Amino acid sequence: MSKNIPYKIYLKEDELPKQWYNVRADMQKKPAPILNPKNGKPMTLDELSVVFCRELAAQELNETDPYIDIPGEIIDFYRMYRPAPLVRAYYLEKALGTPAKIYYKFEGNNTSGSHKLNSAIAQAYYAKKQGLKGVTTETGAGQWGTALSMACSYFDLDCKVYMVKCSYEQKPFRREVMRTYGANVTPSPSNTTEIGRKILSEYPDTNGSLGCAISEAVEAAVGHEGYRYVLGSVLSQVLLHQSVIGLEAMAACDKYEIKPDIIIGCAGGGSNLGGLISPFMGRKLKGEADYRFIAVEPASCTSLTRGTYAYDYCDTGMICPLQKMYTLGSSFMPSASHAGGLRYHGMSAVVSELYDQGLIEAVSVEQTSVFEAATRFARIEGTLPAPESSHAIKAAIDEALKCKETGEEKTILFGLTGTGYFDMYAYQQYNDGTMSDYIPTDEEIMKSIDKLPEIK
Ligand SMILES: *Cc1c(COP(=O)(O)O)cnc(C)c1O
Repeated sequence: MSKNIPYKIYLKEDELPKQWYNVRADMQKKPAPILNPKNGKPMTLDELSVVFCRELAAQELNETDPYIDIPGEIIDFYRMYRPAPLVRAYYLEKALGTPAKIYYKFEGNNTSGSHKLNSAIAQAYYAKKQGLKGVTTETGAGQWGTALSMACSYFDLDCKVYMVKCSYEQKPFRREVMRTYGANVTPSPSNTTEIGRKILSEYPDTNGSLGCAISEAVEAAVGHEGYRYVLGSVLSQVLLHQSVIGLEAMAACDKYEIKPDIIIGCAGGGSNLGGLISPFMGRKLKGEADYRFIAVEPASCTSLTRGTYAYDYCDTGMICPLQKMYTLGSSFMPSASHAGGLRYHGMSAVVSELYDQGLIEAVSVEQTSVFEAATRFARIEGTLPAPESSHAIKAAIDEALKCKETGEEKTILFGLTGTGYFDMYAYQQYNDGTMSDYIPTDEEIMKSIDKLPEIK
């Protein structure tokens, strides 16, 4: 018998995780090593420390320690907005008429509006500890840049953000939040970097892409003394920091004897999904419990469901380490009509490997159906969800409706990664009926897959 479950479950401060969980330690077959793009050999700690902070480079390479202590300074910051609540979606269950029990872990309770702050504060902390002057990064929809500017202002670090051009133009208020926290924001591609100038000369009308903004940010870091590049998703270090989501969710579930059957997350670069599922996956890998894990991606940018498992560049500038992952190719640019975030061409190496081993399932959903689910959720549960998060909402509703047909009382847990207040341009398109569901053809995908690097 499960106990009486409140609408919102909050852990107490002394129940908050004091260590992150590194799922790679419990994987029999590990993700493939990251390679140096210059010689195709596995990256060493020294080589990796040129691009990333040393401690973060060490975390990137660590596949043996299951638990890594969260430094006290980071825990102090987490206290400002954590624990994040685990919410029982009673109103949604009732509206759907489903026997399923639906829970969501809500990560939108901070000014940046998403889970990205969990890793931003960790990355800023290690940069400060190393005595750096500042960090550079890219931002697509803007959540990562906002989170990083908050984290940098807390630790008094300089923050240079390259923001994908279409989003820079569509979301002026995101930009202002970043500037309010002291960040320097540049639309990408820009003429402030070599790679930016090259892309602009080849594609003068480009809306920009995450891969391209990453390349600019990496170039800006490598070219400035005392700067490092930091990345908001995809990397294993980011999944590690995001495990705080799953650890809290698991502690809340255990406390109330909640046993999820299905765990769902939206998948852009894979960090919230990886963070949410990691501790549960750990139990599954050790044979202590079983779960179905579902990654949800947009039909317009489908690295898991239509991509190839191969070594690829994390950035279009081909500077970052090569990573074996499900990818559409680093030259893939999602259609400009795709409004709903999750535009990245590849997927976390950890998530990719788990998916390849059949431990995670993946589905893709079309953007109008995502906004339909988002609107429904906003009206029923009150929170206006981020478009990214709404991919998970859509899949959770679909699973709950399947339970309605079969009469199964499954327990569904999904990640509600953030709020959508800065995404009203996309909501406007949906409300006006001008949103389209463009899906790339096989030929379009093959064009970028054909350009994958050859690794012997
Ligand atoms: C960035 C972001 C995502 C997608 O990134 P992942 O690394 O796949 O988690 C999802 N939701 C929100 C609100 C985001 O800001």
